[in-house]
Amino acid sequence: MSANEDKSDLSPLPLLPWHGGCQCGQVRYQINAYPLTLYGCHCSECQKQSSSVYGLSLRIKASSLSVSGQLAEWSRPTASGNTMLAQFCPQCGSRLFHQRAQYKADPAGAMMNVKGGTLDCIAELEPAGHIWLASRQKGTVIAPGLLEYDGQPENYDALMQAWSAKHGLPMPGAGK
Ligand SMILES: [Zn+2]
Ligand SMILES: [Zn+2]
Repeated sequence: MSANEDKSDLSPLPLLPWHGGCQCGQVRYQINAYPLTLYGCHCSECQKQSSSVYGLSLRIKASSLSVSGQLAEWSRPTASGNTMLAQFCPQCGSRLFHQRAQYKADPAGAMMNVKGGTLDCIAELEPAGHIWLASRQKGTVIAPGLLEYDGQPENYDALMQAWSAKHGLPMPGAGK
């Protein structure tokens, strides 16, 4: 290929479906459509939840997920006045999914986050950006060229666009 046609900036994603699961294997899941974005969240809730430096959120349409195994649930109020529903394996405690509680009652068009570390192919993926960097832990290095936010972004548009562009996916909302 000629230099002009070099698409080396495009980084194809692993082929679908993607698989993942909890630490003990009791819960397994499959993702059947390409995720909307992947980002790191350095808020103190994600640090507590992951008991690590930051949480990795893989944002998907809830309709693209199928789950086998038994999930347990816990919820907490969010700063924006919603209720966040967290789902985890009752056997090993691995956190798997986060979504707004309201989506459970009305799942059409619902978005949700898969906790990135539970994904089998996570080593092949790079976040599009990082949020809540104001509370990042000392020594946490962010790769250059990614989107960075001190707190909560107004919306996920830029994170979704950067992810789509990098991986050659259709822009979110296109074709609707
Ligand atoms: Zn488990
Ligand atoms: Zn967070």
